[in-house]
Amino acid sequence: MKIVRSSIKTVKGPQEWFTGDIYMDAVAAAPPPSRVSANMVHFMPGARTHWHRHSLGQTVFVTEGVGLCQRRGGPVEVIRPGDRVLFEADEEHWHGASPDRLMVHLAINEGDDIHDAVQWPTPVSDDEYPAAGSAE
Ligand code: MN
Repeated sequence: MKIVRSSIKTVKGPQEWFTGDIYMDAVAAAPPPSRVSANMVHFMPGARTHWHRHSLGQTVFVTEGVGLCQRRGGPVEVIRPGDRVLFEADEEHWHGASPDRLMVHLAINEGDDIHDAVQWPTPVSDDEYPAAGSAE
C-alpha cells in the first residue's frame, strides 16, 4: 500500500498539447505492470486539447461545468457532469471546455513501453471550435 498525500503540484497543460488554459492534477500514475494513469483536468472557458489519439483508448468522466468533444468526422457533442465518454483506441478526437463555461473531467489513460498514452497531432482551430453562445 502506498498513500500519496495531497502534495503533488498542479501542472499547467503545455501549449504543445492544448489551446488555452488547462490545469492538471495527477490522480494515478501506477508503476508497471499497471498501465493506468489518471488526471483530473480543469479546462478554462474556450480551452481544449489538440486533435489527438490514444493508442489504448481513453475514458473521461465529466465532474463540473459544460464541455465539448468531437471525433474526427463527427459532430461536436456537448458533455456535462456525470457524462462518461469513451474514445476508442487510435480514434482521433479532441475534448475541452465550452466557449463560455469551464469544464472539469477525470481522464483515464493506458500506456506502456509499446503504446504511447497520447499522440498529439494538430490544434483544434478557431474555425473548428464552436463560437461563444453556440454550445449550450
Ligand atoms: Mn483524449
